[in-house]
Amino acid sequence: MKDKERKGKRERKKHEIKKKGDYYKSEGDKASREKRFCPKCGAGVFMAEHADRFHCGKCSYTEWKDK
Ligand SMILES: [Zn+2]
Repeated sequence: MKDKERKGKRERKKHEIKKKGDYYKSEGDKASREKRFCPKCGAGVFMAEHADRFHCGKCSYTEWKDK
């Protein structure tokens, strides 16, 4: 029975997902220059920049700007 086989094998088309890497690459250089890594969490954890300080959302570490 070949009909049964066909019904069982349904192929679903997957939507193409854009790789995050493409987006990251273009912004990578800029981000590393302007953003700071958290000294507590280590490299890879960026700190949020505020007007007068940097803040880590992970460990709540805050570093004030010296300027
Ligand atoms: Zn941190």
